[in-house]
Amino acid sequence: MHNEALKQSIIKLAAGQGFELCCFTRPRIDGKHTRALECWVEQGMHGDMRWMADAERCERRKNPATMLDEVRTVVSVGMRYSPPAYALDEVNAAQGRGVISAYAHGDDYHDIMKARLEALARELDQLLGRHDQRVYVDTAPVLEHALAEDSGLGWQGKHSLTLNRQLGSWFLLGELFTTADIKEDDKASFHCGTCSACIDICPTRAIVAPFVVDARLCISYLSIEYKGSVPRRLRPLIGNRIYGCDDCQMVCPWNGGLPPPVSDFLSPRGENCLPELASLLLLDDAAFRSRFVKSPVKRIGRERFIRNCCIAAGNNGEQSLLTALWSLAMQDDSAIVREHAVWALGMLSRAENSHAAMQRLSVMQGSETDANVREEISLTIKEIKESI
Ligand code: SF4
Ligand code: SF4
Repeated sequence: MHNEALKQSIIKLAAGQGFELCCFTRPRIDGKHTRALECWVEQGMHGDMRWMADAERCERRKNPATMLDEVRTVVSVGMRYSPPAYALDEVNAAQGRGVISAYAHGDDYHDIMKARLEALARELDQLLGRHDQRVYVDTAPVLEHALAEDSGLGWQGKHSLTLNRQLGSWFLLGELFTTADIKEDDKASFHCGTCSACIDICPTRAIVAPFVVDARLCISYLSIEYKGSVPRRLRPLIGNRIYGCDDCQMVCPWNGGLPPPVSDFLSPRGENCLPELASLLLLDDAAFRSRFVKSPVKRIGRERFIRNCCIAAGNNGEQSLLTALWSLAMQDDSAIVREHAVWALGMLSRAENSHAAMQRLSVMQGSETDANVREEISLTIKEIKESI
C-alpha cells in the first residue's frame, strides 16, 4: 500500500478506536526536550516522583528507540474527553463542593486507552502483517509531549501540556511503537504567542517559567502523586480542588469554542462533577473504593483523597462540615488525615466558636500520639488566637 494511503488507513482505524488525533514520528526526542528534562530533574522539580529521576528511566525517556527492538515509527494518539461543564468562577464559588479534574469524572483512562491501543495494534497486524508493537499510556518512561510535538499532533504549551489548533488540549496521549516504517508527519509549530493566561491564573504559581511546571507547587502533583503532609503555605491556595486541577487548561484561548468529542469513552459520571464534600468526608475505606470503582481517583487511596477533602473543606468555609471534620480529627486511623482535619477546623473556627474550638483542640492534643498532628494542633491554636 502507498505510504500516504497506509497512513490514512491507520488514522481511520485509530478514529474507530476513539483516537480523534493520530500522527506519526520517528523514535527520537528533540534535544530541547531532553535538556529541559535534565534541568527540571536537576532542580528537584519532580518532587517525590523518584521514577522521574531514575537514571535508567531517564535514559529511556531520552532514547525511545530503546523501548522496542528495531522500532521505526511512533504513532502518537490523542483521546478527547469532555471538558468541565462549569466555568472557573463557578469552581471557586462552589461552596461545600470539591473539584475533580475533568479527565477523572469517569472511568480510568489508563484502562480504557490501553485496551483501545491494543485493539488498534491487532488491527495494524491485520493491515500490515504480524510485526512487533508496544503500546503505552502514561506509565512507561516515554516523553509523550515531546513525541506528540514531533509528530505534529500538537505543540507543548507554556503550561507544558500538548495543544492542538483544532481540538485544544482536552485530550489524553498514548503511543503505539511499531517496527513498521510509516512516513513521519511534520513537527507541530508553536502557537502560544505572547499569551500567558495559564501562567497568570495558576493558583500556586507552579508554572515558574514558560514550559516549566514545578511539580512541588502544582496542585495536580500535590493532590494525586504526593503522599505526605501538604505544605501549610500551599493549602489555602489549593481552594476546593480535591483531585487534580484544570485551571491552566480552562483559561487557555485554544480551548474556547471547541467541537464536542465524537464520543467520550471515559463515560463521565454526574456524581463526580463538583461533588459535595459533606458526603466525601464520611467515606471509610470500603465506601471510598465503592464510590470510585473504575475511577482513576481510586488509585490515590482513601488517605490521600480525604486529606485533599479536608483542605477543600478548610478553604470553602462551610460550618456544616465541622461535625465530620471533628470526627476525622479525633478518630481517623491516618495521622495525615487527622493533621489536615485539624488544619481545616482551624480555618473554619476563626470566625465563630473560636474559644470552644481552642478548648477542644487542647483536650485532643493531650491524647494525640502523633508528633506531626500535635504540632499541627499547636499551630492551629496559635492561628485561631491571632485571628480573634
Ligand atoms: S494544574 Fe493547576 S496548579 Fe498545576 S500548573 Fe496548572 S493551574 Fe497550576
Ligand atoms: S493559556 Fe496561553 S500560554 Fe498557556 S498554553 Fe494556552 S495559549 Fe499557551
